[in-house]
Amino acid sequence: MTERRSIIVGGETIEYDLTRKKMKKLRIKVALNGEVSLSCPVRTPLNEIERFVEGNAEWIMSARSRVLASVDLPKSREYLTGEKFLFLGEELTLLVEQGASNSLTRQGEYLFMKVKDVWDKEKKKRLLDKWYSARASEIFAQRFERLVNSYRDLFCDNYSLKIRNMTARWGSCMVSGKVVTLNFKLIYAPPELLDYVILHELCHFKSRYHDKVFYDYLTLLLPCWKERKKALGNKYIYYTH
Ligand SMILES: [Zn+2]
Repeated sequence: MTERRSIIVGGETIEYDLTRKKMKKLRIKVALNGEVSLSCPVRTPLNEIERFVEGNAEWIMSARSRVLASVDLPKSREYLTGEKFLFLGEELTLLVEQGASNSLTRQGEYLFMKVKDVWDKEKKKRLLDKWYSARASEIFAQRFERLVNSYRDLFCDNYSLKIRNMTARWGSCMVSGKVVTLNFKLIYAPPELLDYVILHELCHFKSRYHDKVFYDYLTLLLPCWKERKKALGNKYIYYTH
């Protein structure tokens, strides 16, 4: 017999199918569609089941977002010619060539890498790190400034922008310090999704909570924010270059 139950842990609702059967221990599973199912011995009391779900909540959430992230994750990077890298929603192909010095430039849909030792994986990774970080700093700042300036009457302070690698959120806003932090991984996403996150964080200067005031502003600035939110989801969160 299976019953559908739900529990709220840390503000997040976890829905799961509970099946009682002849077994010794509780077991939890996250299917490829993100569905959570729990099986337990027939007479397990409900509070024990709920404690078990709570205790495993973090694992459930991360397993669920991993299966729901619909970006194909690169298996393991070798940084060889032909490998694909996401950049602002586009797929760029790496071309590696031996050269007198180390460099990385984008040419159309190619990432053209020159490296002294073409087998030095660490070095090649560092070249990409440097390239992606520089692009993220430049592009995030440009788009952030453009959006702030487009709505200067709403956002009239001086704001600063930080970029960090985060695994659980796309952005955050420190209202008192007037600081917006963006997840570095947005560099893999199409720019309109980056803009959506920027606008979301800016709206926190109007209300720090996700309340009506907040959503009224967000809808005013970006009527299609729900589509953008859905398109972004947890995609790219586990992607690495
Ligand atoms: Zn928010």
